[in-house]
Amino acid sequence: MNLGGKVALITGGGRGIGAAIAKRFVEDGAKIVISDIQADLLDGFAQSLNSDNVATCAGDVTSYKDVQKMVKETVKFGGKIDVLVNNAGIDPGGSIVDIDINLWKKILDVNLNGPFYCMKAAIPEMIKQGKGSIVNIASLAGVRVIPSMPAYCASKGGLIQLSKQAALDYGPKGIRSNIVAPGATKTEMLVNAMKGLSKAIKKDAFEVLTESVPLRRAAMPDEIAGACSFLASDDSAFISGAVLLVDGGAAIVDVSGASVSKAGVGWGV
Ligand code: NAP
Repeated sequence: MNLGGKVALITGGGRGIGAAIAKRFVEDGAKIVISDIQADLLDGFAQSLNSDNVATCAGDVTSYKDVQKMVKETVKFGGKIDVLVNNAGIDPGGSIVDIDINLWKKILDVNLNGPFYCMKAAIPEMIKQGKGSIVNIASLAGVRVIPSMPAYCASKGGLIQLSKQAALDYGPKGIRSNIVAPGATKTEMLVNAMKGLSKAIKKDAFEVLTESVPLRRAAMPDEIAGACSFLASDDSAFISGAVLLVDGGAAIVDVSGASVSKAGVGWGV
């Protein structure tokens, strides 16, 4: 993709998918500001990119004050903001009955309020220049439902609607807003989440997780980054309000059909 001349802000970019997006954007020619909650981790990663086109601004996406600073620093560094990637997110589980109310609020705060704050702060800058692209990282869990993850699924479903709202309301100002919805992706977040499961079922949880996925594997973070670069670039100039599933085909699988296949037979036998 060609991101030459573009200036981007990426949240949660110190590791995982956000770090892969940051690396890819720099390779594709963008000037970027990476943000993350842990300043040390962020600075270490940014230095590893070894590029004059990279700056950092540590901050918490649940603080509107921090978010305003991130946007301000981006405009200071690049003179404008063309692209906002809302990537920071957390995924603790807990069923509706069992989840602590404060944990529920925290998940909604990071995964939904955070992107809302970033959009609220960045859109006026995009309006000034008559264009902009917002890329919101939701999840397959915003379209389907994972067992015992009500806050995560609700926050990602809400983010999809928020993204479409921005596409509708600010499209006339030249602003595009799209969703990238990854399926299982091999980052620290998911590898840690799968450790307990692997132990409990005495099997590699990734194998179980992906046995009905058409491509039969989890994504690597780079594969999510490519989709983000496309949506940030002018090659996607007429795409807005879209949900781009990057899930190896997981969302097309009918659960009844998958169960039948697991029994070793095809449908209609
Ligand atoms: P990750 O490895 O945990 O990275 C997320 C980053 O966001 C971390 O550096 C984290 O910092 C940061 N962060 C957390 N809370 C923050 C806050 N309040 N303010 C600023 N930064 C904050 O996760 P990932 O797997 O790369 O996930 C990235 C995004 O993709 C998330 O939105 C996630 O929901 C989504 N996603 C992931 C998968 C997957 O399978 N991995 C699948 C679908 C969607 P700390 O290290 O301090 O927590």
